[in-house]
Amino acid sequence: MNRTIVKFTKETFDELKSLLLADRNEKHAFLLCNLAQSSHHTCNTVFLVDKIVIFDEKEISVSAVHVEIENDLVNGLFQQFVNGKHQALISCHSHPFEEGNVWFSGIDDANDQKLFEYFYTEITKHKPDAQMLTMVFGQKTIAARGYVKETKVFTSVDQIVVVGYPMKYITPVNKSHEDHTVDMKMYNRQILGFGEAGQKELSRLKVTLVGAGGTGSILAETLVRLGVKNLVIIDDDKLEDTNLNRWQGGKICHVGRYKVNILKDLLYPIAFDLKIKTFESTLFNEEVIDYIKDSDVVIGAVDSNKARYLLNRMALAYLIPYLDCSSGIVVEQGNIKELSARNVVVVPAATHCFNCEEVYFKKTEFAYDFVSESMKKEAQRRKYIQVEDISVKSPSVYPLNMLSVSTLSLEFMNLFWGYKDKMLENTYINCMTLENQGQKIAWEHQKPNSSCIDCQDRVALGDRAKVWELFFKEG
Ligand SMILES: [Zn+2]
Ligand SMILES: [Zn+2]
Repeated sequence: MNRTIVKFTKETFDELKSLLLADRNEKHAFLLCNLAQSSHHTCNTVFLVDKIVIFDEKEISVSAVHVEIENDLVNGLFQQFVNGKHQALISCHSHPFEEGNVWFSGIDDANDQKLFEYFYTEITKHKPDAQMLTMVFGQKTIAARGYVKETKVFTSVDQIVVVGYPMKYITPVNKSHEDHTVDMKMYNRQILGFGEAGQKELSRLKVTLVGAGGTGSILAETLVRLGVKNLVIIDDDKLEDTNLNRWQGGKICHVGRYKVNILKDLLYPIAFDLKIKTFESTLFNEEVIDYIKDSDVVIGAVDSNKARYLLNRMALAYLIPYLDCSSGIVVEQGNIKELSARNVVVVPAATHCFNCEEVYFKKTEFAYDFVSESMKKEAQRRKYIQVEDISVKSPSVYPLNMLSVSTLSLEFMNLFWGYKDKMLENTYINCMTLENQGQKIAWEHQKPNSSCIDCQDRVALGDRAKVWELFFKEG
């Protein structure tokens, strides 16, 4: 089931809408896109919108029925596309007079056919893997389609995703009917609080969980109980007896088995319609990255900054919200210096990323990851670099992991239910005791840092970002 998805950052989507629907005249724009294309047959093809090219009104003749763009102009744009690095194009225009369901007109059909034929005959001579879609925007709805050159038929686009906080999912009006019914009964009590629309959305998501350790195991169960149906879990560890103090659902008889496989056994009996794909592997595996790059959200429950660095880059390149969940206990000379549960929310182009905090990734650590074993030893001997050593066991306790998972899961819920927008003013998540009438749980998410190279130059690059090459090449 290979679906076609178009992903925008909220910023780009809002800009495009305001350009196309600025007044009552039809407008035309081209979107320069990159792609997420997996070799895995169950994965989706994702168009990642990078830049808008809008045509000036002087360059087009506007009639009552349609916008005609000068051929020179289209040729110029196609030439620009051929010479540039982008992998895909979307031609879009507006029907500003349409308040109801927007449809491609007969003239649109003829124009699009010409455009598609030209694209898949001439443009693909220079860029064989290039792809194209067309879209039409009404005031409230969108229609979108692709094209199969061999059969000369239009194909439907399955979903338009606006990546923001919260996320927004738009189904194109011309999309062919899809059977997707999920048993909602077990979610009655949460639907009462948060509504059915978000619940249905959750059941359609592809959620990737990286790390199935102390926090990961609690997260996995939480996600399934919340209503996630399509879950990918990645971890190469086997359960040890020292994990049993905190590993959700773990039993003595499980010790020695791969954590991801135990989770499968534990999760399947919880809910109907589950699909769980597991990898007995680390994240640093090209096949894994290829499989998860079309995810709707990635949750990191990892204990290394190297993994966080890769997930951060992947999130920005493929416009995937990335939620990082961790906890920490620092003991120094018998005193507890720190007890912490930390949640980091990275929504591409909407919130800050890990790299926005300049101090977060100490570059030397990563340099260390790239070099050979002998160079590492030498560097350590000379004390050039201090590195995180994840083979050293650090203290860890179930309730602190649960706390981190709880607060992160509330963020996850907001991403897809958008419940924070529905909360009344002065309403917040409240932890109460008899003595204390309100300890507010609140999150504040910063905007992307304007000097962050990742947020400024590495958003929506798709497969062009080649994130898997960051760590997989020796040397
Ligand atoms: Zn039209
Ligand atoms: Zn950033």
